[in-house]
Amino acid sequence: MTKVIYADNAATTAMSDKAIEAMTPYFKEVYGNPSSLHTVGQVAKEALESARGKVAKCLNCEPSEIYFTSGGSESDNQCIRSAALQGARKGKKHIITTAFEHHAVLHTLKKLEKEGFEVTYLDVHSNGLVTAEEVKAAIRGDTALVTVMFANNEVGTIQPIAEIGKVCRETGVIFHTDAVQAAGHIPVDVKAMNIDMLSISAHKFHGPKGVGALYCRRGLPLFTFIEGGAQERGKRAGTENIAGIVGMSAALEEACSKLKENGEYLTRLREKLIDGLLKIPHSKLNGDRSRRLPGNVNMCFEGVEGESLLLLLDAKGICASSGSACTSGSLDPSHVLLALGLPHEVAHGSLRLSLSEANTEEDIDYIVEEVPKVIEYLRNMSPVWEELEKGIRKHLI
Ligand SMILES: *Cc1c(COP(=O)(O)O)cnc(C)c1O
Repeated sequence: MTKVIYADNAATTAMSDKAIEAMTPYFKEVYGNPSSLHTVGQVAKEALESARGKVAKCLNCEPSEIYFTSGGSESDNQCIRSAALQGARKGKKHIITTAFEHHAVLHTLKKLEKEGFEVTYLDVHSNGLVTAEEVKAAIRGDTALVTVMFANNEVGTIQPIAEIGKVCRETGVIFHTDAVQAAGHIPVDVKAMNIDMLSISAHKFHGPKGVGALYCRRGLPLFTFIEGGAQERGKRAGTENIAGIVGMSAALEEACSKLKENGEYLTRLREKLIDGLLKIPHSKLNGDRSRRLPGNVNMCFEGVEGESLLLLLDAKGICASSGSACTSGSLDPSHVLLALGLPHEVAHGSLRLSLSEANTEEDIDYIVEEVPKVIEYLRNMSPVWEELEKGIRKHLI
């Protein structure tokens, strides 16, 4: 294969040089355990606290409000379970979320339903957005938690987080947001946006895999789910992943320092890509065109099966996805696209291209040249497409 164009940055990103450089000493020279009282341990402890300070600065909170975890999934689990437990102690067992959250959120909520909680799944509009008014209308006296993702991992839509935060603060309901796709990509300010709890994951912003963080506003109880030592002020036991944590803080610091220029660059590439792909007949952009992540493009092509499209694109050196990495392998269409109201047939033919700063104008030209060829090839072989062309079936897009 000649060249690989990696356009699956919503699944994971390549590590930045800065993150690798920052981590390297912690594999060899600085090997101490931060809980040790001797010098070798204390050097590691200083690195841990310096990393906490950097992450806190990027999110606009206090270092004491940051807890390190193994990633986005763990952060989501702990925040949601913690808020649920806190609610239950006050007799509040109602939770509000949206129908198109990440499975780390949805599956945690399904478990809580089995444990006696009631969950309201807000419908997502066809543009991939919910409104603060809809959240407000769903809040009841027994609502313990609102959890709404900052930006969607499949269609990239950015929710009105500040407005939702305001509604929650005014009604005294805990507000958690899964900001895994947002942090390091768009501005995230927990104070200004009235966010009580938030989840991030390093590998989505050019940091290492297997490390993340959660923010829990001071004064709000955080419950422990991994018992053991007193690490993370007793809220998350286990010897800290120092190298990973240092790598994450370096990656986030770098991403936040380039937020504006990267955002503008990626938006330009994104718009060019969308314009190019919309020229394909019977194609559709999923999610609001402007209120979306700078690097996210998600399209449906009628009469095309997503998995075949991906495999043929891969053979041409284009790495894309048909939805979330977590659901690929299953034949069900994405719950996110179904939540946007797309019919099953259409949702099956989806393509997500998620760009990073490493992508170039030439990459976009190549993708825009190759995707239509692959689609035409697949449509020519498709019995469904034949029926659509003959008018036996009605075009849905
Ligand atoms: C990737 C992702 C997660 C899971 O993060 P991990 O660090 O892989 O556990 C959670 N939520 C969203 C929105 C994501 O994109």
